[in-house]
Amino acid sequence: MAQVKVGFYGHVRQYHNLQKEIDAAIHEVLESGTYVLGPKVKQFEQELAAYMHMKEAVGLNSGTDALLLPLLAMAIGPGDEVITTSNTFFATAEAIWLAGATPVFVDIDPKTCNIDEDLIEAAVSPRTKAIIPVHLYGQPAKMREVAKIAKAHNLYVIEDCAQALGARGDDFVIGELSDVVATSFIIQKNLGCFGDGGAIVTNNEAIATQVRKLRNHGSSKRSCHSVGYNSRLDELHAAVLSVKLKHLDKCNDLRRARAKEFDAGLAGTSLTLPYALPGYRHIYHLYVVETDDRDGLQAYLQSQGITALTHYPIAIHQQEGYPWGCAARISGSLKHTENSAARVLSLPMYPELTSEEAKLTVEAIRAWEKTRGR
Ligand SMILES: *Cc1c(COP(=O)(O)O)cnc(C)c1O
Repeated sequence: MAQVKVGFYGHVRQYHNLQKEIDAAIHEVLESGTYVLGPKVKQFEQELAAYMHMKEAVGLNSGTDALLLPLLAMAIGPGDEVITTSNTFFATAEAIWLAGATPVFVDIDPKTCNIDEDLIEAAVSPRTKAIIPVHLYGQPAKMREVAKIAKAHNLYVIEDCAQALGARGDDFVIGELSDVVATSFIIQKNLGCFGDGGAIVTNNEAIATQVRKLRNHGSSKRSCHSVGYNSRLDELHAAVLSVKLKHLDKCNDLRRARAKEFDAGLAGTSLTLPYALPGYRHIYHLYVVETDDRDGLQAYLQSQGITALTHYPIAIHQQEGYPWGCAARISGSLKHTENSAARVLSLPMYPELTSEEAKLTVEAIRAWEKTRGR
């Protein structure tokens, strides 16, 4: 196997870039003796809410729980339906199943790979309680259209923002047109801690209060009011996230700069390049190209020491054993979802990726095109 020249992740480089600040933050927590639900979590929650221009953030142990706990707080469960896409990380649908509800899969817009807003209305049934649009690859779904349908049918909206913290729409910001924003801080996300973490951000204080209880065994103060979970964000992670949040916009700008270089370098090739909606701030959590010979391109890049991965090679409704005895419904056809799963390839993309590494990747892709006689 070729020596890795361009790796897929940059988080160790990011640690080295911020090492002084991060080490100091970690040291402070270690010396404090408070490691769970202390001042660092509270501080980070306030900073995150302020960053998103929203009232409340609640730190949790994962993005998965950031989807599950608000569903429970909304009393969504068995017999209820939640509309989302099948072209997403498994946890989006998993959270719906964990709540006991039924995911209803709607096809994607093949250009953005986000939910096709024109197909949502047809998926609404008397049992529908919520919509979970996913801001896939770092670009927001068309929230104005989603919110309009939600309002007409009295539905909740939870934005799955695990890949899009710091992104914006053309005339809306994330959180403005929904009930809850759910996000993840697992290391590879745009804002990542050194392990697992997540949060909800909301203007709905009742939901925030309920999620706060659910994350800590259903308790507030000393008494347990209901059966909950252990889903807390740790002090160490919160302290690290406070440091990294200050650098998030700059890091996202670096991703956008590399994406521009890829766009220019790969223009005119046979690849379908990422489509950024006019006026949107796409923050390229992933830079995803499409090709008929995805496996061939991935193997060629690997042979050149360049790691490219697939997000996501198998749509949720095509996974082995689907739906594992759970309730699920497909609305219409998922042909664009299935087509995308067979064609997508994620190129290396992170703030610490250098222009030289982006150039190496572009040159390797162009060389691969030559091997195919183009
Ligand atoms: C990462 C991710 C999640 C789940 O987050 P975890 O922190 O890994 O539980 C959910 N949805 C999407 C779109 C994701 O990318």
